[in-house]
Amino acid sequence: MTEAGQQKDYLIRGTAYNGKVRVFAVRTTQLVDELRRRHGTYPTATAALGRTASAAAMMGAMLKGEEKLTIQVKGNGPLGQIVVDANAYGEVRGYVNNPDVHLPSNAQGKLDVAGAVGREGFIYMIKDLGLKEPYRGSTPIVSGELAEDFTYYFAKSEQTPSAVGLGVLVDTDGSVIEAGGFIIQLLPGLTDEEITKIENALGVLPTVTTLLKQGMDLDEMLRQIVDDVQIMDQMDIQFRCKCSRDRVETTLLSLGKSEIEQLIADDEQAEVICHFCNEPYQFNREELAALLERATK
Ligand code: ZN
Repeated sequence: MTEAGQQKDYLIRGTAYNGKVRVFAVRTTQLVDELRRRHGTYPTATAALGRTASAAAMMGAMLKGEEKLTIQVKGNGPLGQIVVDANAYGEVRGYVNNPDVHLPSNAQGKLDVAGAVGREGFIYMIKDLGLKEPYRGSTPIVSGELAEDFTYYFAKSEQTPSAVGLGVLVDTDGSVIEAGGFIIQLLPGLTDEEITKIENALGVLPTVTTLLKQGMDLDEMLRQIVDDVQIMDQMDIQFRCKCSRDRVETTLLSLGKSEIEQLIADDEQAEVICHFCNEPYQFNREELAALLERATK
């Protein structure tokens, strides 16, 4: 692994054009490589999951306190569903239904993320903002390459014109060389001239992974797009799954007495694997019997 690959993942956010532009940038190389290792994702699946995780990390930074969000990408491609959770503390976890998807490169010689995700389907956004009901938004998939799809989501569902860049560079051995992204959000008050300037900068911007591989810092990356970036905040980004044996026990208890009795009768043991981190939780006969005692229904 290169030296760059061992740097900590982080995110910066700030403003530009006197607060009329909101900017986010993230480096997620370690996070995406951990997702790859935990789930055994093949390169195209790694790129799709990693792009979604990078978007989720930045959207998590738009939240406050205990708020959290879940992104579900349900396309008609071979990957099945992509699910990623993120929160305001920079903690991210996620999985894909079919991690062993790898397709031939697309016409640009890049990982064929759209082919894996599918070019039709929906992106669902679920935000737990501490209210009775979570906020739910969804927009159709417009390309399957994901950056365009999140751009469309921000424009249609959150009425915020945005530019989204996402990238995952995978090595020949399948490991992640670089991963990251940016979100530029245009707020009311920008002049046409300012918007054109930003669009022109985006038009000639190299890919996110090209910039990261050159050793470019995130604030430098943002300065390629908007000049006067004011960085307000920097935070670490990391993989974190909040599953625990206690939570798995609660899930087993919720199955009810007859289901637990069935588990004991069939296998005399049970293994529950967390979707998000692939951690197995084993229960032997005695442990299942103890759970059966505690089950109330
Ligand atoms: Zn877990």
